[in-house]
Amino acid sequence: MNRRKLVVGNWKMNGTRVGNVDLLGALREAGPYVAEVAVCAPFPYLADVALSLQGADVAWGAQDCSAHESGAYTGEVSAPMLAEYGCRYVIVGHSERRAYHAESDQLVADKAKVALAHKLTPIVCVGETLAEREAGQTDAVVKRQMSAVIHTLGHCISQVVVAYEPVWAIGTGKTATPEQAQAVHALLRAQLKAASEKAGEMKILYGGSVKPDNAATLFAQADIDGGLIGGASLKAADFIAICRAGA
Ligand code: PEP
Repeated sequence: MNRRKLVVGNWKMNGTRVGNVDLLGALREAGPYVAEVAVCAPFPYLADVALSLQGADVAWGAQDCSAHESGAYTGEVSAPMLAEYGCRYVIVGHSERRAYHAESDQLVADKAKVALAHKLTPIVCVGETLAEREAGQTDAVVKRQMSAVIHTLGHCISQVVVAYEPVWAIGTGKTATPEQAQAVHALLRAQLKAASEKAGEMKILYGGSVKPDNAATLFAQADIDGGLIGGASLKAADFIAICRAGA
């Protein structure tokens, strides 16, 4: 199956309005790309990002959304609001949200469902901690996280993007080896295949300290369809190099 690579920048809680203009201008200039490229920005910047990327070969998205459509949920941002700003993607279940905001597998699945209902593509993150890997629990953990989303979305599961992000590799400079990453991607693909006949078309991204010098080898693995990029997405030259590694 020839799946087009997807490279998504996760800015996390970084950026300034002025700095973003430079970064987005550089991404725009460097296009068009062979891979699909997107950036997931903090909420307050989405209007600026939408303006800067109008007509560019780069999509945009957000880093989270509420599991509710609207209502008395102070501080939350809904999927319909993100759709109004032209978002194509929304990250759900990032390990930082699971860890610092106690997001459960079911809440992540509910967020994915509401995102899809508003024509956003959820990028569903799964991944094990170092303790879980060392205890031999990697497969069970990612399967459990994925299974909540499969169960909640039913046949719509084929419309999500999955990101395998081992928690021990995020922002640490420790990358999973291509073989370690591929093994988990193959496991996830098999689980998705059991749920949907379209699983062969689904994108499964790798995330965790992807840099220009390791991106091409990771992206060359059979079941790795691109990357979710944190730190390196804040530097135009690095992010552009990673996008090109997805050619
Ligand atoms: C991430 O935030 O999803 C991520 C993978 O971060 P980093 O690339 O910095 O490890």
